[in-house]
Amino acid sequence: MTVRKGHGPSGCVVLDPDRPRPSRVRRGGRDDDFDGRVQLYLIGVVPLVIAELRNAGIGEVVRLRVEAVHELGSHGDDLQYGGRHQESSRRALATAIGILAHADGGVTAFGVHACTGPHEGCPGARLPVGSPATSGDGGPI
Ligand SMILES: [Zn+2]
Repeated sequence: MTVRKGHGPSGCVVLDPDRPRPSRVRRGGRDDDFDGRVQLYLIGVVPLVIAELRNAGIGEVVRLRVEAVHELGSHGDDLQYGGRHQESSRRALATAIGILAHADGGVTAFGVHACTGPHEGCPGARLPVGSPATSGDGGPI
């Protein structure tokens, strides 16, 4: 895959400023901030996936896509509720988002936007410098 010009090798991965913050759901007396945990994970890991895919051939991308689909289809419940496949299902989600970031306009899911090049309506272009989802120089992380 090739990264389009305008974003660095890690692409643009930001919190979607248009997504309303869900109210915290309480289950069993504990705070269950699934959305917040997934967003934090994706903000940290998807840039690495995008960078890793930079030199991947189409065959490698297809293999990773098939593995991610299989993992999420088989163990997506562990992603949300925990279980022995939670780590692998989270990794599969980050891989899927990293692959989809290469599509025109990137991808927005779970309150996170990821893309590899400038495009119309990119949430990364609207965020102020120094926001938690941008790097120190104001560029997308
Ligand atoms: Zn974008």
